[in-house]
Amino acid sequence: MTKDQVIQWLQMFAAAIEENKDYLTELDAAIGDADHGINMDRGFKKVASQLPNLANKDIGSILKLVSMTLISTVGGASGPLYGTLFLRASGAVAGKEELTVEDMLKLLQTGLEGVLDRGKAQLGDKTMVDALFPAVTAFQTAAAENKDMCQAMQQAVAAAEQGMKDTIPMLAKKGRASYLSERSIGHQDPGATSSYLMLKSLLAALE
Ligand code: ADP
Ligand code: MG
Ligand code: MG
Repeated sequence: MTKDQVIQWLQMFAAAIEENKDYLTELDAAIGDADHGINMDRGFKKVASQLPNLANKDIGSILKLVSMTLISTVGGASGPLYGTLFLRASGAVAGKEELTVEDMLKLLQTGLEGVLDRGKAQLGDKTMVDALFPAVTAFQTAAAENKDMCQAMQQAVAAAEQGMKDTIPMLAKKGRASYLSERSIGHQDPGATSSYLMLKSLLAALE
């Protein structure tokens, strides 16, 4: 993955968030406080506005700037969680001008670890972890089978989509949705949905 493709990924993710802003907010209205689309769109509009100035920076520095922007603009639970994801990921690819499959695996793994450390959610708690965790596992499996980055990311996106849908019957154990207890059942998690969109945009930038 080239640096230009990383910038394209962030542009495409910002566009996907804008396009799905109302949808994400509706999902959050059912089990949260109806602001996930608004929060994410605020952050990624700011990220998108900074992208034209990043062409001379390495991939690690680009992802670090994304992290700082998200932490300072998104707020809520998702701001620090996505901020930590991008901060950890930036450390995993510091100084790089392009990414191998191995680099991408490290980026995804360390990003997920950041979310797990920060949020303390486990698989099945009905959070973004339920989309990210199976996606990282699928990418790792594909990488071990010597699939190329695009093929590995296709499998990661399929796993994230399934993981996102699997949050519907879950009872939320973390975040605002957990306050609803049984009433959180039957609704798709907003953060799992935005995480799926993040990986779908990453795939689109590779294709
Ligand atoms: P808030 O709940 O503060 O309004 P958002 O609505 O922007 O923040 O984000 C909600 C999403 O954050 C949830 O749908 C869930 O995926 C994610 N989330 C909340 N708490 C955690 C946590 N502890 N670990 C991982 N993800 C979490
Ligand atoms: Mg919310
Ligand atoms: Mg909120």
